[in-house]
Formats: sequence, C-alpha cells, structure tokens
Amino acid sequence: MSFGPVIEELIQALRVLPGVGQKSAQRMALSLLEGKPQGSFRLAESLSLALGAIGECKGCRTLTESEFCPICMDGQRDQKTLCVVESPSDLIAIEQMHQFNGVYFVLKGSLSPLDGKGPAEIGIPALLDRVRDLDVREIILATNPTVEGEATAHYIAEIFSHEKVLITRLAHGIPMGSNLGYIDGSTLSHAFSGRKPVLDES
Ligand SMILES: [Zn+2]
Repeated sequence: MSFGPVIEELIQALRVLPGVGQKSAQRMALSLLEGKPQGSFRLAESLSLALGAIGECKGCRTLTESEFCPICMDGQRDQKTLCVVESPSDLIAIEQMHQFNGVYFVLKGSLSPLDGKGPAEIGIPALLDRVRDLDVREIILATNPTVEGEATAHYIAEIFSHEKVLITRLAHGIPMGSNLGYIDGSTLSHAFSGRKPVLDES
C-alpha cells in the first residue's frame, strides 16, 4: 500500500540513517506522525538547528559547533600522538574509553575505489598536512576492521613508511567486519592498549 507522497518522502528520508531499511523507516515515519506528538516537532526543529550550527573542526575534522573542537582546544592533550579514525562516531567510541590522551584525524570513511572514494576523497592530503603541522611521532590507525578499513590502514602506513613516525594499528580481537562505534568498550580498550607497529608485520 502507498501512504501518499508526503509520507513516502519522509519514509525515504529516514532511510539515510545507518541500518534503517524500508520497514523500519515506515515504522518510524508512522510513529513520528501519529497524533503529531510534540516530540516529533522537537526532533524536526533540533535537526534543522543542528544542521545549521554544526561544522567540521579545523584541526581534526570531527563535528563541532565552534571553529575547533574541545579536544583540539585542550592544551593537556598530546599533540604528537595522532589517532586516525573513519568517522566522528569512531572518535567518540575511543574517547569513551578514557584511555587515549592524544589528538585525532577523522577521515571521510575508507578507501573504496568502486564507490569513487580514493585518497583525495577521504582526506589523505589533509592528513599529511596535519601530521606535518603537529610534527606527529605516532600515528595510531584506528580504521574499522573491514576490508576497506584494512586497505585504508595499509595505504596510510605505506605513505608514511619513509618518515620518522611510528605507525601502529589496533590489536586484533575486534571482530572483522565490525564498526568501532558499535563494539563494547572493554574490547576496544584492549585492542587499543595492545596496538602494534604496522611495519613489523611485513
Ligand atoms: Zn578537533
């Protein structure tokens, strides 16, 4: 059955959320519209407000409401240790371990040539600038344990192989194909503290 073009549009719009298929989007749309609850207006308003107010940190490229995010502004953080992640939600997962005191660089996803995502698209030139500007000593590759994430980590390790910087990768134990943002804190914490230099493996 069809609900009419306005509801259909809302259903399709909800499908931008990760993991939301047609059925879940339908359920969400109907629940948002039923009785036009106050909460739905609040959702619409706060989304619109957030889209207008939030931009990219000029340092690490995570989402922020000001020019630089609180992590980049924090003088206590170790600017020589740089953790590379695929997305702001991965950065948050690592921050929630309360174990890492360095700074970040947020890629725009991972290398995926079939989807037209090459080094420039995910931000490798900006990563090179950040490593140089901060005179980074260790780069921790915390890309996701997916085929694309592994390829991206390998690519970055190659780029810096002739530079005086230690490249480490999170230890195994993170299930292949998973996303850092979704795994439990203790597994992530374990993988983080057990990180290994990348070049030792080859
Ligand atoms: Zn930042």
